[in-house]
Amino acid sequence: MENTTADSRTVNNNVDQAELDKFSDLASRWWDPNSEFKPLHDINPLRLNYINEHATLDNAAVLDVGCGGGILSESMAQRGASVTGIDLAEAPLSVARLHALESGVSVHYEAIAAETLAEQKPASFDVVTCLEMLEHVPSPASTVAACARLVKPGGRLFFSTINRNPKSWLFAIVGAEYILRLLPKGTHEFKRFIKPSELSAWCRDANLDVTGITGMTYNPVTKVYRLGKDVDVNYMVTAVRANEP
Ligand code: SAH
Repeated sequence: MENTTADSRTVNNNVDQAELDKFSDLASRWWDPNSEFKPLHDINPLRLNYINEHATLDNAAVLDVGCGGGILSESMAQRGASVTGIDLAEAPLSVARLHALESGVSVHYEAIAAETLAEQKPASFDVVTCLEMLEHVPSPASTVAACARLVKPGGRLFFSTINRNPKSWLFAIVGAEYILRLLPKGTHEFKRFIKPSELSAWCRDANLDVTGITGMTYNPVTKVYRLGKDVDVNYMVTAVRANEP
């Protein structure tokens, strides 16, 4: 990737400024559980438990890529992890820093691209999480590869995103943005959604072994989210970086 400026945040091109702006514009409401970020608040206990079941968070060095306002980062720190949260949108990072101060949770937040950090600190983290972010970057494969370089051999990674098929268009865009209005219109672009087979292939290309996949479903009547076998819309993948021989 091309080094366009001296700014460490822009040493790679895997950024869509319009996507960052969407999140920056809403940043002040990040921690309002009834705001546009309600779905992230609602799914957080589920994904936190999933992560904690597949990896040990207590005393682990954890990197949260695309951390936004820090909902997941803070919750992992509360489980005893030493968390670094990175994002390229400044406003959500400012909100994250302030919120951590208020809640007395220690998280290190930094505006740096995963690809750049991977050059500076390869093989440094026991666990790398990258949730609800890959569908907002131009080259998700590059992000996956950077995450793979950042985790220690034997370490664990978690990715979550949205599948690409007619049902996911209906549920994640028409349903969530237009009918239920859980998310602002334009939050997601269908063509950026990612099939589990594509994500798995990028993991394999980055020398990761995919060890699990779980779906996340939303029942609009009961308003309850669940983890389960249905990966048609939202899903989460866990992978390990093989131990080097
Ligand atoms: N991972 C968090 C936030 C998800 S919202 C959670 O699940 O709670 C998506 C986040 O990805 C936003 O904070 C946005 O700023 C960030 N993002 C988008 N493109 C990015 C990029 N190229 N590098 C780093 N972060 C990015």
